[in-house]
Amino acid sequence: MSNDTIDTDNGPVRDFVRDQIHEDLANGAVDSVVTRFPPEPNGYLHIGHAKSICLNFGIASEFGGHCNLRFDDTNPAKEDQEFIDAIQADVKWLDVGWDGEVRYASENFEQLYDWAEHLIGKGKAYVDDLSAGEMRDYRGTLTEPGKNSPYRDRKVDENLDLFRRMRAGEFEDGERVLRAKIDMAAGNINLRDPVLYRIVSAPHPRTGDAWCIYPTYDFAHGQTDAIEGITHSLCTLEFEDHRPLYDWLIENLPVPAQPRQYEFSRLNMTHTILSKRLLTQLVEEGHVSGWDDPRMPTVSGLRRRGVPASAVRDFIGRLAISKSEGTVEAAMMEHCIRDPLNDRALRRMAVLRPLKMVIENYPDGQVEELEVTNNPRDETAGTRMVPFCREIWVERDDFMEDAPKKFFRLSPGREVRLRSAYFVTCTDVIKNGAGEVTELRCTYDPETRGGASPDGRKVKGTLHWVSAAHAIDAEVRLYSPLFQDENPDAAEDFLSTFNPDSLEVLTDCKLEPMLADVTDGQVVQFERLGYFCTDPDGTADMPVFNRTVGLRDSFAKAMARG
Ligand code: ATP
Ligand code: MG
Repeated sequence: MSNDTIDTDNGPVRDFVRDQIHEDLANGAVDSVVTRFPPEPNGYLHIGHAKSICLNFGIASEFGGHCNLRFDDTNPAKEDQEFIDAIQADVKWLDVGWDGEVRYASENFEQLYDWAEHLIGKGKAYVDDLSAGEMRDYRGTLTEPGKNSPYRDRKVDENLDLFRRMRAGEFEDGERVLRAKIDMAAGNINLRDPVLYRIVSAPHPRTGDAWCIYPTYDFAHGQTDAIEGITHSLCTLEFEDHRPLYDWLIENLPVPAQPRQYEFSRLNMTHTILSKRLLTQLVEEGHVSGWDDPRMPTVSGLRRRGVPASAVRDFIGRLAISKSEGTVEAAMMEHCIRDPLNDRALRRMAVLRPLKMVIENYPDGQVEELEVTNNPRDETAGTRMVPFCREIWVERDDFMEDAPKKFFRLSPGREVRLRSAYFVTCTDVIKNGAGEVTELRCTYDPETRGGASPDGRKVKGTLHWVSAAHAIDAEVRLYSPLFQDENPDAAEDFLSTFNPDSLEVLTDCKLEPMLADVTDGQVVQFERLGYFCTDPDGTADMPVFNRTVGLRDSFAKAMARG
C-alpha cells in the first residue's frame, strides 16, 4: 500500500498540475488562472472532496487567480437544497479563501439549450428514440464497435422539432434523448454518440418546473467551464476517458473560452469509504446518525467530531497530486489532528467510568482549591483552580484488586499520586452483594499537597480525578473506525466489515467544573484520555462530549486487536 504523500517541508509545492500552470503562464497560453470546485448536490462533502477543494482554491490563491464554487445541479432526480446548503457551510468552514459567491450549472440552462440546437443545426446532434436498454445494446463493447441508431440520420428540421417538443414536455421520461453525432465505432466509448439531454420530469431545486429536459454532466460541465472562463478544469482520474468528449464539445460549439481538463488521482483512505453512493446508504439505512455523524468521513462529521479545519487542510496539503492511485493511512489523518492539539489544547480532568474514592483522613466538609497547570506545553496557558474534597471520582480502570507488580495505579496497599493534589494509599475496598467494587477507601498524606512528597518518596502512578461534590454529569461518546477492514471497498458487501463497536456511549461521566466553559468548536484534552469537544446533542443539564482523537494511534491498537 503506497502512502501517496509528499514531504511538505521542502519548499513550494510542485506537482504536474502546478507545473502545467507555470508553463501556461510562461508561454502566454493563459494570462490568469481560474479554477472551480464543482460538487453535485446529491450528498455531503467528504474528505476526498476536501482534496479537490484545497487543490482548486489553493492553486487559485497561489497564482493570484480565482476559484468558483459551482454546483453541478443537472440531475434534479437526486439533488436537494439540503445538500446545496450543507456543501456551502462545509466549504466556508474549510476556510480555503472562498469569496462566498455561488454558481450553478443550472444558471446556464438556456445557453446550454441554445448550444444543443446549434449542434443540431450543424448536423452534429440528433434526437434518438431508442430505449435505454436498446442504446446499451447498440453501444458495443471495449472490443467491438457500436452500431448506428436507426434514428441517427434524421434531418436537421426533424431533430429541431423533436428537441423543441422534448423541451415542451410532449414526451415521457426516457422516451427520447438528444445525442451527439460523433462516431459509433470510436475506440473510446464516450465518443459513441454520447447522450447530451434527457427528459427528467422532476422539480429542480433552483429552476423549479421550468425545465423537463436536463443536460448530462458531459454536456454541461465543459461548457459551463467555458462560460465561467475556467482555465484549468481539475478533476479526478475517472474523467480521463471523458476528456476527448470535453474537447470535442469545446471545439464544436461557439463557446467564449477554451478551458482544458486535467485529471489527478482521487484520495482513498484505509478503513474508510469515500463513495457518495455508499455513504448515502449508511445514512439512509440508519447505520449512522446522519451525514454529520462524527464517525463519517464527511467534512461535517469531522467538524462535529472536533477536527479543526486547519488539521484537514494540513492533512490534504501532505497528499501528492499525481496520476497514480494510492491509499493513505487513516492513522496519518489522525496524526495531523492530534499533533497541533497536543500543543494547543487545554488540559482538563474528566472521569469516564467513575468509581467513588473516600479519603478517610480528609476533614469532612473541607474544600481546597488546588492549582493545576492548563497546558504543560504552553506556559502562557497558565493555571486554574480545581476543587478537592473528601469524596472524589477516579477511573474504574485505574483500580485493580489483585494487581500484577507492573500495575502502578490503585490497588490495596499501594500509594499513587492524584494529579496536582496528594498522594493517596488505598486501604479498603467496598463491594456490593454481587461482589462488584463500589467504593475505595483511602488515606492521604497532607504533606504531599500539589503532588510532591517532602521526603523524596516516589510513586509511579499519577491519576486524574474529579471532586464528587463539584462534578458535572455528562455523556461522553467514544469513536473507533467505522470499518474493521483496511479496505472496505474491496469487500463484496462493505457492510460486512462495518464495525459494530464504532460508537461507545458513556452516560455516567464526571467532569471537573471548568468543563462547563468549553465553547462550541473548542477542543480540550481530558488528561490521559484524549481530545474532546462538545456535541450539539448536549443540553444544559447533560452536556455531551465527543472524543475527537485519542492520545495514541488508534489504528495501531485496532490492528493489534484484530
Ligand atoms: P461519487 O462518489 O459518486 O463518485 P463524486 O464524489 O465524484 O461522486 P462530485 O460531487 O461530482 O461527486 O465531486 C465533486 C468534485 O470532487 C469532483 O471534481 C470530483 O472529482 C472530486 N472528488 C470526489 N471524490 C474525490 C476524492 N476521493 N478525492 C479527490 N477528489 C474527489
Ligand atoms: Mg462525480
